[in-house]
Amino acid sequence: MIAGIDLGTTNSLIGIFDAGFPVLLADATGSRLTPSAVSFIQNEPPLVGFPALHRRNLAPADTILSVKRLMGMREIQGQFPFRFASHSPLKIQTSAGDFTPEQISAFILSKLKSDAEQALGMPVERAVITVPAYFNDNQRNATKAAGELAGFVVERILSEPTAAALAYGLNRLQDRAKIAVYDLGGGTFDISLIQLNQGIFEVLSTSGDTHLGGDDLDRALANFLSQKLDLTPNALLETAEQAKKSLSEEMQTEILLPFAEGASSASLILTRSELDSLCVPILERTKTHCLRALQDAGLTPADLDEVILVGGSTRMPLVRQIVTDLFGRAPNTSQHPDEAIALGATIQGGILSGALQNLTLLDVTPLSLGIETFGGLMNVLIPRNTTIPCKAGEMFTNAVANQTSLRISVLQGEREMAEDNWQLGEFVVPFSPAPKGQARVGVQFEIDVNGILKILVREIATHKDHHIEIQSAIDVSDEAVEKMIAESVEHALEDMQERIFTEARLKAEELLPALEVALLQLGDAVSAAEKTHIQNLAQAVRESLQMGTAQPLKKAVAHLDEATQPLASRLLEKVLS
Ligand code: AMP
Repeated sequence: MIAGIDLGTTNSLIGIFDAGFPVLLADATGSRLTPSAVSFIQNEPPLVGFPALHRRNLAPADTILSVKRLMGMREIQGQFPFRFASHSPLKIQTSAGDFTPEQISAFILSKLKSDAEQALGMPVERAVITVPAYFNDNQRNATKAAGELAGFVVERILSEPTAAALAYGLNRLQDRAKIAVYDLGGGTFDISLIQLNQGIFEVLSTSGDTHLGGDDLDRALANFLSQKLDLTPNALLETAEQAKKSLSEEMQTEILLPFAEGASSASLILTRSELDSLCVPILERTKTHCLRALQDAGLTPADLDEVILVGGSTRMPLVRQIVTDLFGRAPNTSQHPDEAIALGATIQGGILSGALQNLTLLDVTPLSLGIETFGGLMNVLIPRNTTIPCKAGEMFTNAVANQTSLRISVLQGEREMAEDNWQLGEFVVPFSPAPKGQARVGVQFEIDVNGILKILVREIATHKDHHIEIQSAIDVSDEAVEKMIAESVEHALEDMQERIFTEARLKAEELLPALEVALLQLGDAVSAAEKTHIQNLAQAVRESLQMGTAQPLKKAVAHLDEATQPLASRLLEKVLS
């Protein structure tokens, strides 16, 4: 038996696949939902779930909410009500000691484990845990580590929108359909386009933002209210969330703060249209990701059979309106926004344990992976949206004679230049000295079923293998992920220009010295007129190099290359004669 777990930013759930159905399990109080909250008390075991949530105002520094946002992070941005004991590794300071985000998540997972064991009356040792599709390698590893700390064997890390698609598709195993899963929760947004084909679930593309969700709406509303109520935005976050939720049902709501700051009371009426106008700019950002996912999958909205909504924030009428406008159809709200992901994880548990046999899941990798090559270019080995598990390799050689090592910089991202992407790791592979271009080093990237990267570097001559674990992974924040995606679109043109220039420059740097040597070797075999023509073309290349613009350099290099082709064959003849 393999449990399915939705380890959410706000709430977490656990279920198992039983007698042909996914079943979510309740705790001793009858609740299937466990708030993802842990509250620490000196010399006592921590509180988890609702009891922890109740301490959030009483002991804010000891009550950790939304720890999912910190998973796999080292660089911290933003305000937190608790203190950090250290940044590398990231540890949160509490009165019961210092804890890593993995440890705190493990407390939540341990509670789910023991609730499930209570409900079932037997041990639950294996689990599938979901993560946002846009979680990077490090965040997935951290989630797996949390599961292991809680005593689980983590059988699979599963993308949340894919899990939601499984939940939707379970009763449609005979269908062929293309669906979009629009998942807007408290902290993250994911869009995935998925093809269902008689029990085969194939993710066609995915896009998203690990820092876009209901929390951002709460913050925008709290800022707005703080101007009217003379309180700090932080003090108004809970009120803002409550008001936002009521406005999903009502057209207006009354905000009452009976004992705000001393004895004075405050109240005001907030309308749904006021809330909407604050939320539109934030929610519009989901559109860009949807369009990108459509483009990556080569689909138009008309090609889709359904748009499924999941995540608590899709209860908002405004979200439903934006989705309707974008996809040209009313979304399918048949899935329980809070439970679909856990149900999907539970179904995946059923597939893996063999309890469910007519289902296959093909997931994709959300970001491109590659290495830096000459001239600082990103050389993509596995493009984003490749179906996982996958493997890709490439052969590299030495740029300098008798080089004894090769520096390999592993990159993740969508930009053309290496420096604009994130470096996952850098390592130096030693190899036997050889003349320029003679050493051969094969680099293979493998992404496993959990979306976790493994690298193999092989020196071909000696068959020596180096296995590389990406230890530090990405030292970037959620904001940086967001920025990366936005910038890759924004700078697409410049990036292309830069790549063209760099490629042309590398070619020019090879061509110019080779030309000098060829002219010298050929001597009188080249006519004066031909020599002048070639030297003029070479001069044009040097000038374009100085100018620094891509297209003229590319053209100049192409002209020089063409004009020098006959020299190359004459040189060859000379050598052979
Ligand atoms: P999730 O991460 O999927 O659990 O979603 C949590 C987010 O959904 C939080 O930001 C909640 O404020 C938001 N949410 C839950 N219920 C509603 C509702 N009725 N209207 C608007 N937002 C909601």
